[in-house]
Formats: sequence, structure tokens, C-alpha cells
Amino acid sequence: MVIGILKEPEGENRVALLPENVSELVAMGVTVYVESDAGNSSCVENEQYVEVGGRIDTRENILVNADILIKINPPDPGELVEGKVYIAIFNPLHNKELVEVARRMNITSFSLDMITRSTRAQSMDILSSMATIAGYKAVLEAANKLPNFFPMFMTASGTIRPAKILILGAGVAGLQAIATARKLGAVVEVFDIRSAVREEVMSLGGRFIETVGVQEDSSAGGYAIEQTGEIIKRQQELIHDHAGKANVIICTAQVPGKKAPVLIRRETVESMQPGSVIIDLAASTGGNCELTVNNKTVFHNRVRIIGKSNYPSQMPVDASKMFGKNLMNFLKVLISPAGELSFDLEDEIISSTCITHGGKILNERINGLI
Ligand code: NAD
Repeated sequence: MVIGILKEPEGENRVALLPENVSELVAMGVTVYVESDAGNSSCVENEQYVEVGGRIDTRENILVNADILIKINPPDPGELVEGKVYIAIFNPLHNKELVEVARRMNITSFSLDMITRSTRAQSMDILSSMATIAGYKAVLEAANKLPNFFPMFMTASGTIRPAKILILGAGVAGLQAIATARKLGAVVEVFDIRSAVREEVMSLGGRFIETVGVQEDSSAGGYAIEQTGEIIKRQQELIHDHAGKANVIICTAQVPGKKAPVLIRRETVESMQPGSVIIDLAASTGGNCELTVNNKTVFHNRVRIIGKSNYPSQMPVDASKMFGKNLMNFLKVLISPAGELSFDLEDEIISSTCITHGGKILNERINGLI
């Protein structure tokens, strides 16, 4: 079997598999082609792939010769070849047209962002590994942009009070943001609508703020559910009361597959101290702040609102390492020990990620939307 690793688009620094992963695949009897310079932005040269048995080639040749094509970002329509297998982050709940093209072209597509959240799937959960990076990087960026210290200082020049950080959403990105902000000495307050995260927030040194009356659903697999307009309004008011004292707000609140809840209104931004920073990690699905613009920084009343939606690309070496490890664990479910493509559509790892196969859209979650 032949696997092809495609180069990511301009502006993306990660690569789907590193030489250490290619070496493992070659040992399984798989032939691996790597698009020339695919690893450059992750500090990996073509020669390093060749040293472990990979073959460097052009995109055109790889598209023809590989059975499975691998990328992090969704493939462009020009990279789709009839009947082949693709593995990527298709973001299918927000990318319906691409799913439809893949179906029409009889492509078997696996979208890694759709993987079920279970103990077995944990080692393949690219959303969690990338969110860990985003939570960490978001806090570092906020610390860089804030015109204040994060930690408290007692010096001969006076006492500096610690920065106050508000974190909205305590999922993977939020918990990492709490841990990073605490390590830098900030005082951290956290909002989430799942009571189950209270203990985790407190164990990381954050103060958990509860919104009365939120709806939870134990059948949602540990995820939050969308709240009514009334609850969101109550949250907005509560967050407004805390935002005026915060130096930084990190936004990570999200219900999978939905538009991000708007928790920070314009009036709240206007109540914040000049120089404050909002980092909105939910920017790509609309943002938790009403004023967020995806992939832009905007200023409102001297508050900086950063809507970057690809922090993992800013830490490409470790991001590629984590992505590659998750992907290798997934490939071991998809490929037999003899190096052949062999998968069971009943297996929850396969059924949760397989988006199109045999000219059909297989995934229930997508079928409900398309
Ligand atoms: P997650 O599902 O693990 O966590 C989301 C959290 O938000 C959950 O704890 C949930 O209970 C909470 N939540 C939902 N609705 C809420 C509400 N109304 N009020 C308060 N909390 C609420 O998700 P994650 O993996 O931590 O990702 C968080 C966000 O970060 C997502 O939008 C994701 O797309 C984004 N992300 C951004 C980047 C980037 O580089 N910008 C990278 C990775 C992830």
C-alpha cells in the first residue's frame, strides 16, 4: 500500500507526519511518498524523510500513485482524485460543499476531527492535542500583548498586583489556559456550564463561577449542550460583571458542531480597562465575543480582540509531533499489520470518522445537517 503526505497550504507550518512516523510505516511494509518540502516549516528537510525510507515526489505524482492521501487541512477540490482514500481535518459540520464533492467523486474520506471521545480513541484525538496547544499559546500571546505583568511583584519600586484572567469554557483548551496562566502567576476565574469541570478548575487553582439554571444532558457524551437565549443572557450579564476587573479574557466556549455562543457583548468590551486583551479561540465558528473577527486583531476602546484560529501552526514542531502520533494510532486501526488497508465500518473509531464511502455520506451527524 502507498501513502502520500501532501504539503499544507501557504500559512500552515505543520506537517501531518514526521520522519519518526514514516519510519514506523515503512517498517510495516507501507510505501510512503512525501511532497517535496512538506516538512520545511516544521524544521524537517526532505533528506530526513529519505533517511528513514520515505520517497520525495511532486504533488501531481503523489496524487496519482498513492492509495491514501494525508493532510492536516482539508484538501482543495483540485487535490481530490476519484475513488481514493483521504485522511484530513475536513471540518465536515461546517464544510458541507467539500463533503458533497467527496461523495460525488466516490472518495473514502476520514475526518480526524470527528473522532468519538472515548478512552480507546483518546490517543487519536487530534482536537484535544491541538486544543492543548491553543490554550497554552493563547495565554502566552495574551501575556506578550498585555501592558502589565502576569505575576505579582513586591519590589523596591512598589507592589505590582497580579493580572486577572477570565477563562470562558473549561474544556481541553480552557483547562490548559488555566494551567498556563496560573504558572505565570495570574489570578484566574473560570466560567463553564458543565458542573463536572468545577473540580478540575479548582484543582488547577482557578475560581469556578457558576451560572444558575444551565441545562446539562448526561447523554451528550461529556459535551455541553446549547443553552436557551435566556441562559445565555444571564451568562452575558454575569460575565459583564467580572470582565470590568479582568486584564485578559480567553474565550474557548463551544458546543461541537454549533456556532460559538456569544458571551461577551459590545457593552462588556466597553466596560473593560484600556490595554486589556481578549483572545477568542472560538473565532472560526463566530467567536464568544460579539466583536471578534476571524483571523484578525481588532481594537475597540483600546481593548485588543485577537481572533486567530490556528495557534497550533505557531508551534509546528510539537504540533506536528502530537498530530503525527494521533494519526499513527488512527492508521493502526485502518491498516492491517501486513500493511494493507482494512477497516471495519462497525468499529466506532471508523464509523465516527468515515465521512464518505461508496458514493454515500455515512456519518449520522453530517447526514442530519446536509
Ligand atoms: P471542548 O469541547 O473541550 O471545550 C469547550 C468548553 O466550552 C466545554 O467545557 C463546554 O462545557 C464549554 N461551553 C460550551 N458552551 C458554553 C457556554 N455557553 N458558557 C460557558 N462554557 C461553555 O473544546 P476545546 O477542544 O477546548 O476547544 C475550545 C475552542 O477552541 C473551540 O471553539 C475550538 O474550535 C477552538 N480551538 C481553537 C484553536 C485556535 O488555534 N484558535 C485551536 C484548537 C481549538
